[in-house]
Amino acid sequence: MSSNAELFDEARSVIPGGVDSPVRAYGSVGGVPRFIQRASGPWLWDAEGTRYLDLVCTWGPSLMGHAHPQVIAAVQDAASRGLSFGAPTATETELAEEVRSRVPLAQKIRFVSTGTEATMTAIRLIRGATGRDLIIKFAGNYHGHSDGLLAEAGSGVATAGMPGSAGVPAGVTASTLVLPYNDEAALEEAFAARGDQIAGVIVEASAANMGVVPPRPGFNAAIRRITAEHGALMIIDEVLTGFRCGPSGFWGFQQQNGERFEPDLFTFGKVVGGGMPLAALGGRAEVMDLLAPTGPVYQAGTLSGNPLATIAGLRTLQLATDDVYQRLDDRSDQWRQVLAEQLERAGVPFVINNASNLFSMFLGSTPARDGVADYRQAKTQNAEAYTAFFHAMLDAGVNLPPSCFEAWFLSDAHDDQALEVFSEALPGACRAAAKV
Ligand code: PMP
Repeated sequence: MSSNAELFDEARSVIPGGVDSPVRAYGSVGGVPRFIQRASGPWLWDAEGTRYLDLVCTWGPSLMGHAHPQVIAAVQDAASRGLSFGAPTATETELAEEVRSRVPLAQKIRFVSTGTEATMTAIRLIRGATGRDLIIKFAGNYHGHSDGLLAEAGSGVATAGMPGSAGVPAGVTASTLVLPYNDEAALEEAFAARGDQIAGVIVEASAANMGVVPPRPGFNAAIRRITAEHGALMIIDEVLTGFRCGPSGFWGFQQQNGERFEPDLFTFGKVVGGGMPLAALGGRAEVMDLLAPTGPVYQAGTLSGNPLATIAGLRTLQLATDDVYQRLDDRSDQWRQVLAEQLERAGVPFVINNASNLFSMFLGSTPARDGVADYRQAKTQNAEAYTAFFHAMLDAGVNLPPSCFEAWFLSDAHDDQALEVFSEALPGACRAAAKV
């Protein structure tokens, strides 16, 4: 049996950094990434046979818990009939109908394989629809790794402390205006100055890639109002929040709480594919029909709408009933409370932010007690304290995101036993964080 360290060494000799997505390499927290062998419910087992309670949940998709028997059975059944056809299947339509039933504004839906593709296509679509080139994104929001969306991005770009990426042509960067998140005045100003050149705004439904930073009340609705006033479109990125922050995503959660607004396009990923490579964009029919073959905006994919991915997504959404979301919300409240109590007891200054059931913490004395509302504030947290906390939790058998700029995820499988493991690990981790 190889150790994690041996596997990491071997991987690094043939894969850059030993990983296929940067944050997995533990670059900011140091140490050896766990090489995972299997997962079930809320648990992961690494190559050394050690079990971990998992609060990463494959960065969001695992809403029902890892390897849910009904999802696995559906995928196995589909696999026995062929892995990919490159032709339409009825399951794609069924999944599109399920998405539309939850998010009626997604009148038409196109499936792709990654969130990156979904947002990249949505951007092309709003440019095609308006004939304008400029787009607006917000600092600390992450929308995948396409050229135009990497400026001041969250997630791995934030973890690595990078302003953007090498290899992005200056001409592409010049078409992306980056504004501070949660700053309605800055948005008004940008549109006042260049409104007739701006195709639209892309925003995470709730920011969750600089840690969780929910929109201030009225911010998302203001984006809708301002874009509409200038003939620009609004893309709400629900890749991370969609079908997780509620049956209709964070957009649905906001509607329920009285903040009503109608974006032109939605992007989905993660939960919509139930752990398989699947993502989607959806929106008003007349905008979506601009996509080829009905319209002039080109987009395609050999594996788009893959039969294993669509059935995994469909079965996951079918399992994700209102009860599931209620349980997730209740558990999230409970887990956040336990976390807050232990941090307080150890004397660690902290802010815990949440967007419905999604949450993360910001350690250190700098973040104001009244919250962390943008990327500038998120970056003032004490990353070293998080590193100490992270490793103490890992040593106690709890797998947290290896970066202080990521959300923590629960699943329907995170039961009382899981909470016990979490609660027992916390005091030591909080004491470790207090020493930094
Ligand atoms: N948008 C958001 C809001 C995301 O959180 C992510 C990934 N974390 C993406 C887009 C990109 O998705 P993918 O990693 O599947 O390309």
